[in-house]
Amino acid sequence: MEKLADYKEISEIIKEQGGDSFKLCYQCGKCDVVCPWSGIRNFSMRKLVRGGNLGMSEIEGEDIWLCTTCGKCSQACPRNVGQVESGIALRRLATDYGIYAASADPVRSIRSALNAEGNPFMEDRSKRADWAKGLSVKTFASDMEILYYPGCYLSYDPRLKKVAVATASILNKASVNYGILGSKENCCGESIRKAGDETLYLQLAKENIKTFIDHGVKRILVSSPHCYHTFKNEYPEFMVNFEIVHIAQYVFELIREGRLELSKEYKKKVTYHDPCYLGRHNSIYDEPRQVLQKIAALELREMVETREESFCCGGGGGRIWMDTPKGERFSDIRLQQAVETGADVMATACPYCIANFEDSLLNSKDDESIEIKDITEIIQEAIS
Ligand code: SF4
Ligand code: SF4
Repeated sequence: MEKLADYKEISEIIKEQGGDSFKLCYQCGKCDVVCPWSGIRNFSMRKLVRGGNLGMSEIEGEDIWLCTTCGKCSQACPRNVGQVESGIALRRLATDYGIYAASADPVRSIRSALNAEGNPFMEDRSKRADWAKGLSVKTFASDMEILYYPGCYLSYDPRLKKVAVATASILNKASVNYGILGSKENCCGESIRKAGDETLYLQLAKENIKTFIDHGVKRILVSSPHCYHTFKNEYPEFMVNFEIVHIAQYVFELIREGRLELSKEYKKKVTYHDPCYLGRHNSIYDEPRQVLQKIAALELREMVETREESFCCGGGGGRIWMDTPKGERFSDIRLQQAVETGADVMATACPYCIANFEDSLLNSKDDESIEIKDITEIIQEAIS
């Protein structure tokens, strides 16, 4: 087995991935100061970048799998080194060799599931639209105003199906002419790409793009910031350009156009967690807050690290599928920050965040003091 990856190969792969700019690194260490791993365990993006630069990257160890691609280091870097791209390039190399560190081993079965059924749960593809049974959700047709793409977690995960149902209630209430593609929908491929499997990403993306084109899709509504990011910023690599809108933006639009009225009070204190792929990666900070602030009696409170400084839940970069030992979970720290605001509800707008925070809540002493909600679940209560 390879001990140290070959210099030429690493350099070429990093270059292909757009990570060539890491040669600009001058080892200032600002990335390590802002990284959520600092203070939790010994991990240094600065060292990873240096290793890649010298062609001395260790691809067998845990380090290359730790980054959640939260984007805090890229935001802090004075040289635009592109740490996230460089880190993914190393994962691609490890994937090509079939080398997975212990914590990343679950990615092997995720790849099989995505290949076989188009979702990471190995759930039957034909059950992808089961969440919508009895909800007056139509199959998408080309004359509809928008395609609703719920994504894998909202289609199959029992907790997150509630978010898909809340979204359908909002769309129905606003009389939106929308539809879904059900079993014709594939995983968007964002997280498996960040976990290093470029080939599988390309396959999933190409199949989705063909389906969208075949069905005359022009505008796509998504619930996950990860689907949003890849459809909006990565699918255009295939020379396609669908209009992508996240549900937080869409609800804001429906209210502004007078199509949706928030008629009920929500007498709770709410703190909003910015998901990395909605906030830092796509600069959507205001719409979710503005929507929440339009709900009567709702009191919005901010956590200590908010907007651009938001503390990652730990689920990006494929880490949602990897093993993180207790005591090292970002979501435990973030949940504590939410509890410290005195909020009754911790709201967010991402399925990975919800899955991680629910898990942290289950294992915390604060399980009675705060609820975890997607913003659509709060809106659903404010309209019904
Ligand atoms: S912040 Fe940028 S320049 Fe500084 S050590 Fe990190 S990657 Fe290098
Ligand atoms: S993207 Fe986030 S988790 Fe990854 S190295 Fe940068 S700051 Fe750390």
